Amino acid sequence: MMRLDKLLSNMGVGSRKEVKQLLKSKRITVNEVIVKDSGMHVDPEYDQIFVDDQLISYQKHIYLMMHKPPGVVSATVDNRDRTVIDLLSADEKKFEPFPVGRLDKDTEGLLLITNDGELAHRLTSPKKHVEKVYIAHISGEFPENIVEQFQEGLTLEDGYQTKPAKLEILNKQSKEVKVTITEGKYHQIKRMFIAVGCKVTYLKRVQMANLQLDDSLPIGDFRPLTEDELQYCK
Ligand code: URA
Repeated sequence: MMRLDKLLSNMGVGSRKEVKQLLKSKRITVNEVIVKDSGMHVDPEYDQIFVDDQLISYQKHIYLMMHKPPGVVSATVDNRDRTVIDLLSADEKKFEPFPVGRLDKDTEGLLLITNDGELAHRLTSPKKHVEKVYIAHISGEFPENIVEQFQEGLTLEDGYQTKPAKLEILNKQSKEVKVTITEGKYHQIKRMFIAVGCKVTYLKRVQMANLQLDDSLPIGDFRPLTEDELQYCK
């Protein structure tokens, strides 16, 4: 159950104040009865709510694909930096969304933003081994057997042994690589390259589970997932 004015305002009908006005003008019905009480509790999945003759279909969850720009942090609040949630509009913020997993402040690329805790858990739980794919630019010399080292697992500076990761060298000259990992330790990709004597100079996530970053989504922009894309996250 939730307050009628909160529900209507979350669904984009108007601000709480505007909703109050609509109620006062007898333009809102709940199960065919005119309602004037903004504090009335309704069951959003069961009650039939109309504004004039328009049925308000309740949307519980929000799913956004963001092309995260560098310089913003993957958090909901931060007292120093701008967060990915700061990039959203007031309408989207009403859903109280949060980023699924973390990208470093200087990392770009695919970030799913939702308020669906179950989905977020499935995608980030270490037990699920969800694949994440990154494009990286590297400085330093690649060791001869770097692909095998990634495949076998590397020992990071704190002694952590990484799970097998797939490294593809996309361009030997410019040292552009594609890396697929199934875990998400702090600074994982950067630390994996440090472990082989190299340095990541640019990092972009392009895929998580089967969800791919939309190439046409400008950096810093976001849009709702399509139905198909939502299935790719599951
Ligand atoms: N690995 C990193 O080092 N940074 C990220 O943002 C993601 C993976």
